[in-house]
Amino acid sequence: MGGRVGGEGRPGVVVLATRNAGKVRELRTLLADLPLLIETLDDHPEVGRLPETGETFEENAASKAATVARATGLTALADDSGIEIDALGGAPGVHSATFLGPGASDADRCRWVLERMVGVEEGMRTARFRSVVAVASPDGRLSTFEGTCEGLIAMEPLGEGGFGYDPIFLVRTHGRTMAELSLDEKNEISHRARAARSAVAHLRKAAGPPGGLPGA
Ligand code: IMP
Repeated sequence: MGGRVGGEGRPGVVVLATRNAGKVRELRTLLADLPLLIETLDDHPEVGRLPETGETFEENAASKAATVARATGLTALADDSGIEIDALGGAPGVHSATFLGPGASDADRCRWVLERMVGVEEGMRTARFRSVVAVASPDGRLSTFEGTCEGLIAMEPLGEGGFGYDPIFLVRTHGRTMAELSLDEKNEISHRARAARSAVAHLRKAAGPPGGLPGA
């Protein structure tokens, strides 16, 4: 992306294109070092529903970021992500948030997975989180970045941190579930952190020299 981050009116602003509070918390920390002002959809009530009708993480991340960039006239950053469970043929994958319908909770989705994994031995419980982060500018430029984190489906939910499938995802390198990690620990190794780090490098280039925030 050439040129300044932000829109014509407010260069130096990036809007997070998500209504998931867990993602907002993580992305805010991951983007904290950038010389940019981070806003959320709470700051932009003009943005309507975000489209998630694609068949890939990349399509969904791109359409969410582009929708918010168009609606706000500002640079927007979206994450589309999910969990791929090998014993379930890669499901729920891109449908991780929605496959049980709109009334289901994170706990319902974790229970559904654990029920399907009964009798599956440890070596066959492999899974990964995948994230694609998209950065869109209001004039239609778009870049995407991918990150993954490998792990195993736990036998039971453990831990109170994070969100989504974190309580049932054992991080290989830590021997604990993602929900047992602190935010800082998760942000060192997560799929979203890996994708966001590439996006940060890209935004840093586009943001120009440090201290370049408009109106600051
Ligand atoms: P979407 O990107 O809005 O389609 O939602 C992604 C869904 O994948 C979330 O609602 C979670 O269920 C799951 N997910 C994505 N990232 C994570 C994570 O870091 N921890 C746990 N679950 C996640």
